Amino acid sequence: MKNITKTYKILDFLYSLLLVDIIKGVILTTKYMFIKKSVTINYPYEKSKVNYRFKGEHALRRYANGEERCISCKLCEVICPAQAITIEGEKRADGSRRTVRYDIDMSKCIYCGLCEEACPVDAIVETMNVEFATETREELYYNKEKLLQNGDRWEVYLSEKLKVEAPYV
Ligand code: SF4
Ligand code: SF4
Repeated sequence: MKNITKTYKILDFLYSLLLVDIIKGVILTTKYMFIKKSVTINYPYEKSKVNYRFKGEHALRRYANGEERCISCKLCEVICPAQAITIEGEKRADGSRRTVRYDIDMSKCIYCGLCEEACPVDAIVETMNVEFATETREELYYNKEKLLQNGDRWEVYLSEKLKVEAPYV
């Protein structure tokens, strides 16, 4: 036991004397500077690919004819664990149900995606967008108009995402 401890001490001394750790560090740094491909990107000018399952800013979608998808069934409101969604609906003259109020308090949202999963008509969805930081809390109280605008803005991405994810839902 004594001999083993002595050997370790000698090895430790030689390790320090020969600057092994520093040399290893310099080799690693040089490798990443000149040989290995950089893993960092120049954000916000460059952006990495975001997985379709990423849960970002919310949006309300429309059908291709411009009609709102949401039928005011309130499943998303009920399932939301953060109680961030508030919906009020009414019957239209043609008998269809639509929301007159659809609010999400984004400061409460925990981006769990349950609202998206509960929706029977793929109306409420989460986009890939993460760039929606605000200066005031009030700006994070999203109303129906804002959510529909998001839907119009991200529709191309959203329909592609739903197509790709369809076999897994
Ligand atoms: S993502 Fe989750 S917490 Fe956020 S609104 Fe939907 S259900 Fe609520
Ligand atoms: S977004 Fe979907 S789940 Fe929520 S009320 Fe509208 S139709 Fe129902």
